Amino acid sequence: MKRAVLYARVSSDMQKKEGTVESQVVELRKQILKDGNILVKEYVDEGYEGPRLDRPGLEMMRQDLKKDVFETIYFLAADRIAREVTLQTIIIEEIIKNNKQLIINGKDYIKNPENTFSLQVLGAVAQLERAKIAERVGRGKALKLSKGYHPGRGWNIFGYNYVHKKPETESATLEINEREAKIVRLIFEIYANSKEGMHMITRMLEDQGHLTKTGKKLWRVGIIKNMLRNHAYIGMMYFNKLETITEYANPFYGIKVTSKKIRRRDKSQWVGVKVPAIVSKEIFNKVQDKIDYYRKKYRNPRIPQLLSNLMRCGCCGGSCYAYRRYYVDKRSKPHKVYHRASYKCNWTVRILQHSIKSKLRKCDNNEIKTSIIEEKVFKLFENIVVKPELLKENMDIFKTGGKTEQNKLQRQLKKLDSAIKNMSASKKRVLELYAEGNIGRADYSKKNMEYDSELARLATEKVELVKQIPLLHKPVVIDMSIAHYCDEVRSRIRQCKDFETYRQFFLDYIDHVVYYKNLVELHAYVPIKSATQNEDEVETKIEYKIITEIEWAERFANYHKKTNGSRISVMDFNSLVGESKRRMRDVPLFSKEKLTQ
Ligand SMILES: [Zn+2]
Repeated sequence: MKRAVLYARVSSDMQKKEGTVESQVVELRKQILKDGNILVKEYVDEGYEGPRLDRPGLEMMRQDLKKDVFETIYFLAADRIAREVTLQTIIIEEIIKNNKQLIINGKDYIKNPENTFSLQVLGAVAQLERAKIAERVGRGKALKLSKGYHPGRGWNIFGYNYVHKKPETESATLEINEREAKIVRLIFEIYANSKEGMHMITRMLEDQGHLTKTGKKLWRVGIIKNMLRNHAYIGMMYFNKLETITEYANPFYGIKVTSKKIRRRDKSQWVGVKVPAIVSKEIFNKVQDKIDYYRKKYRNPRIPQLLSNLMRCGCCGGSCYAYRRYYVDKRSKPHKVYHRASYKCNWTVRILQHSIKSKLRKCDNNEIKTSIIEEKVFKLFENIVVKPELLKENMDIFKTGGKTEQNKLQRQLKKLDSAIKNMSASKKRVLELYAEGNIGRADYSKKNMEYDSELARLATEKVELVKQIPLLHKPVVIDMSIAHYCDEVRSRIRQCKDFETYRQFFLDYIDHVVYYKNLVELHAYVPIKSATQNEDEVETKIEYKIITEIEWAERFANYHKKTNGSRISVMDFNSLVGESKRRMRDVPLFSKEKLTQ
């Protein structure tokens, strides 16, 4: 007896000829029962056409292949996997590679002699190789690419116009946009033949009023760098260059996932398509050499600080970076070397890449010595976080404003509950109608499916909502969770002894730290869960934030030189910079009263 799954598919245009999905599923279930296996999962795709492999059911099956979900898989016919033989082979190979039994139309695939033969033949055919490349690229546009067609991404290349597919050309093409191409040539010219860097180029483009491909006034070094690295300008556009990976706050210390990151694939996996060239290969290579040279010369190895990736600027909402500098005191003999590491708002540096005409003002948040702020944050944990009563005072939801917000959410939840109740009642009614013979089977199954999908949607909505309402839990549970959290923090603090343990402690317990001049705000969450987990109790978390001040005496001696009184308005600044504006929303700033105190 094995765990078995089945896969059924029907394309929208072939309903009549291929029969309905239901009939396929019923047939496969019979086969599984006959073989004495247990059905554990069904994958069904309805209404997906053509030679593509990006169907949700198939995708799920392929993911489950790698896990231990089933031992045997049933198909009604090979063309149910995919219409094209090459694509069928890819899937069949995958199944066999993962040591699963494959049954097509009641026959074991591997034991069937004619199949082994066809597998060998197909393996030798170059067509398969092409299909494999196409498969790697991304299921949809794959086949087009292997024939040399341009998928829609051509839009975004500065210097080209994207020409849509016409009947006579059969493929979309790129044509040179002379106005933009002139700028491209200029950029390559400047970078290759002068001492200027990319900052100067962005400033120049802004000064002259050129817009980016997406119509923005502000250029960024990243755009210029991507342009200088883009092979399209010498006549070969590459696809399948990037892949997404999950980035950890620090891969070395692991655990906390911060973001998805895009990374370059190895060049052997790229797929090239010819386009008209704008610059010569000579100048392109010269530019690549220069980029590599400066990269080697100036790039420092990454050395994480305790709060790297956790710091935010309270002035503009941007992120902070840690930088190190060595000062050599030449008056003393032998020379003394001072080492200094500080956190600094990214915008104090990024402002350099924009022209004066853009009217952006420099973020005037100060830099702060790493040692000062790290100690401050750690003291907060030692003095406040470990004490439940003090910690509760810093939670918004226990304040008056927080409570009304929670009540509002609870009312929403009630509404949702009644909607779910109504929906279930209607579902029951339809079933009764069907049982009495008032409606037909087709009508019934259609209605039933509608209700099911609607119910599933409401259920997920409810889970999301409940997560936002920690007060739904009983006060005892909340108190217990907070006490447990405090104990945990206390024991972890005792374990802190070297850089690794401190860093891991911060990564585990801090969401982010906002820093503004002499104020520090610590943001973190307390997870709420009861010891005996009920099914209707969803695990949630309560946010807390603690504000503390850094004494003036603790700060830099030359502090007064940097604050010359010009304080920018946060709103002004962000309306000019689209990106930081988005970040602003989730970075709570210090309140005005606090700042003027
Ligand atoms: Zn800033």
